[in-house]
Amino acid sequence: QVVSELAGRMPRTAEDLQRLLPGVGRYTAGAIASISYGQATGVVDGNVIRVLCRLRCIGADSSSPSVIDRLWDMANVLVDSNRPGDFNQALMELGATVCVPKAPLCGECPVKQHCQAWRRKLFGKPPPVPDVEDCGVGDCPLCPPASEPWDSSLGVTNFPRKAAKKPPRVMRTATCVLERRGCHGAPEYLIVQRPSSGLLAGLWEFPSLPLAQDLQEEKEREELADHLQAWMGQPVAAKGLQFIGEVIHIFSHIHQTYVVYSLHLDGDVTLGPALSPSRWVTEDEFHASAVSTAMKKV
Ligand code: SF4
Repeated sequence: QVVSELAGRMPRTAEDLQRLLPGVGRYTAGAIASISYGQATGVVDGNVIRVLCRLRCIGADSSSPSVIDRLWDMANVLVDSNRPGDFNQALMELGATVCVPKAPLCGECPVKQHCQAWRRKLFGKPPPVPDVEDCGVGDCPLCPPASEPWDSSLGVTNFPRKAAKKPPRVMRTATCVLERRGCHGAPEYLIVQRPSSGLLAGLWEFPSLPLAQDLQEEKEREELADHLQAWMGQPVAAKGLQFIGEVIHIFSHIHQTYVVYSLHLDGDVTLGPALSPSRWVTEDEFHASAVSTAMKKV
């Protein structure tokens, strides 16, 4: 892109790098501009987040956009205008080698005199409140929440903090392995393509239907039969669905239970007008298709 659209001229500021080069985000732009072109602009990565949160006792959720924005502001203020590239690399390196997540080497740290978390660990009390203009005491969006006070057993690793993980969402999905006899006598199975966005976007699966919680088994069958009918353009008897078992699959944020049924189809089967792309596959073709691990378990 630099060669073909920018006449070979590499953008030299963080702002231009982000604006003119797709895929270059805030971090990459700041790193290139400061290290390669000497722009006095900060860089914030995971290591820098940890160092700054400890230096300033920032106890609010360090993954929240408001805290991240504030850390970028701080990095832009702190950066050494004479040697911004060296400064940024040093700050990242400090986080990678000294101010590490679990057992930081505070005794050897070159910035310990400036570190409020370290002072708090040493003196066992909050650092003195800085100038009121620098610190919005009370509703400060950067202070640790009052409900999660300083834990002296953790020392400086009280910081940074992250919001507690939400428990995974519990979902039940009915899925049906529809089987027919293919033209060479081998069994074939119907797979359908998932929508192009959202969970498992674009992957193929057996026809599936998310279920409401606490649905009776009979009702589950009826709903699945209705769903299959929409695919096949012909009535499907709920009692023809054979219950096979349940498969549990854990996604990072979803605890999914697949309730698996099967249905054998006799004779020629013509699918109704497709709701989304669908095809019949042999077992080998199924495994060669873009199907999720969960469907392979099913
Ligand atoms: Fe990190 Fe300890 Fe240095 Fe503070 S003194 S920046 S907590 S290593």
